[in-house]
Amino acid sequence: MSKRILLVEDEPGLVLTLTDCLANEEYLVETAQDGETGLRRAKEETFDLLILDVMLPRKNGFDVLRDLRQHGIKTPAIMLTARGQIIDKILGLKLGADDYLTKPFDMGELLARIEAILRRAPNDQQVTAEVYTFGDVRVDSRRAEVTRSGQPIELAAREYHLLRYLIEHREATISRDELLNEVWGYDAMPTTRTVDVHVGLLRQKLEPNPRHPQFILTVHGLGYKFVG
Ligand code: CA
Repeated sequence: MSKRILLVEDEPGLVLTLTDCLANEEYLVETAQDGETGLRRAKEETFDLLILDVMLPRKNGFDVLRDLRQHGIKTPAIMLTARGQIIDKILGLKLGADDYLTKPFDMGELLARIEAILRRAPNDQQVTAEVYTFGDVRVDSRRAEVTRSGQPIELAAREYHLLRYLIEHREATISRDELLNEVWGYDAMPTTRTVDVHVGLLRQKLEPNPRHPQFILTVHGLGYKFVG
């Protein structure tokens, strides 16, 4: 079966050349032209390999890779860096890139690296994908299951979506209005108090000490922030 490759690259010329070249080698190539789109696709779909440019609009390649690895998505990745960015190589490998190539590179070289990585990639890599853990809580996005110390936690659909949104935007302060728009949607007419109530429910279910939350934090006057 043909291997699926996601190419995240914003230079149209390079996208065209790479797509052609990879298609000739019987790979199925999908493309994303900015970091956010690449990240979303890599999370939602299954690929055998990512080719990830470092300098990307909206979200750089390092951040995309870091985010994926934090979500337990271990799809092998080759980073494309600009000439002489030695620091990039080190950072990329530290973040879990499998290889890197410095632009401009030889197509034959890229193909050789791809083959080498695909040969050694375990076939069961997707088993652990989409699992996020914090404290003793485990969130399995693929099965929509949340467990705490191995015990299933019952979450209402809205609580689950709220948790997912917080995790996906961890370390960022998120306003109640944003949560209303993104988790409840424009159609609903809840108030920001609704958000507080649901955050409270999540804390009851997931925090070791709900009165002194350590994962779902209140940012006074601004909203909430997930750390973990
Ligand atoms: Ca670029």
